[in-house]
Amino acid sequence: MASEFDLIEQYFTRRPRHAELGVGDDAAIVRSSPDHELVISTDLLVEGTHFFSDVEPESLGWKVLAVNLSDMAAMGATPRWATLGCVLCPGLGDGDPPAPTGAPSSSGSWLEQFSRGFFACADHYDVDLIGGDTTRGRSGATTFSVTIIGEVPHGVALLRGGAQVGDDIWVSGTPGRAALGLAHLQSRTELNGAHLAHCLTALQRPTPRIELGLALRKVATSAIDISDGLLADLGHLLKASGASAKLQIAGLPDAGLARDAYLSGGDDYELLFTSPPALASEIVALGQSLELPLQRIGAVCHGQPGTLSVFDQHAANITPKRRGFDHFS
Ligand code: ADP
Ligand code: MG
Repeated sequence: MASEFDLIEQYFTRRPRHAELGVGDDAAIVRSSPDHELVISTDLLVEGTHFFSDVEPESLGWKVLAVNLSDMAAMGATPRWATLGCVLCPGLGDGDPPAPTGAPSSSGSWLEQFSRGFFACADHYDVDLIGGDTTRGRSGATTFSVTIIGEVPHGVALLRGGAQVGDDIWVSGTPGRAALGLAHLQSRTELNGAHLAHCLTALQRPTPRIELGLALRKVATSAIDISDGLLADLGHLLKASGASAKLQIAGLPDAGLARDAYLSGGDDYELLFTSPPALASEIVALGQSLELPLQRIGAVCHGQPGTLSVFDQHAANITPKRRGFDHFS
């Protein structure tokens, strides 16, 4: 069985591009850019809660970093450095292949594939892995914790609390895909063709909207990523902003699972943001230049902070009871 140090050296040690000192010493050293603030966030991914035991390790490696990058996007920050904590439990990622999905041995051990996915994401977004911790768990759930550190020029970070009454509410991409992909894997629905492929990609290899987040610094009054579901996260944003909202969403699926997934499905890493109506054409142009659909789905209004209502195309109120995902409810 490989030692902790072998695993770190083999799978998690790369020369950093933006750090004075990366993996290998007691701590890393980074230098922040002049006139910037550091933006820091941590996310945990736990086997059985956030991913299946037979998950494809390369996708998981991508995703553990991507979900953290999404928080940087939602802040309008440029991601720079990450640390990775691993609790590797027997059966999954414990350094002793075979991979649970029976992947061919030529594709490498579970951790090798995981690290390949992680670094594919890190390279794509130009992020350095500068440290972490690796330990074996005796039993239970293999767990990954990433801390991401980004930078933003002083005072321009996108916060949840900046929405103003009268602002438009926008969302990127197509919410609900990840939840539909999950429902397909759990045989709760059957998707096929390009739609299935889009939904599985959203679930397994999400795209953090970094470029969008950077561009939104100039036009958005507030932003959040919709990892807990559109309505739940909009509720968080509205609460922080002391406002309410009315939604009327063109193209919202009529009913059933597709509509629930759009409104309340978790694990989407699209951005939800607000901006003054006068900037609407700029936002449409931004979506075109990024080749990313940006849709206006409603408006911020006066009302009890955090509340919202959803109307269909006939102006009938269809606000669902359950807004999204909460690990403790
Ligand atoms: P210490 O005992 O000082 O905490 P460790 O032996 O845990 O040191 O780690 C040695 C080096 O490897 C440190 O630089 C640490 O940041 C890094 N490291 C450990 N695990 C990981 C990991 N999963 N990913 C990246 N770096 C790691
Ligand atoms: Mg340590």
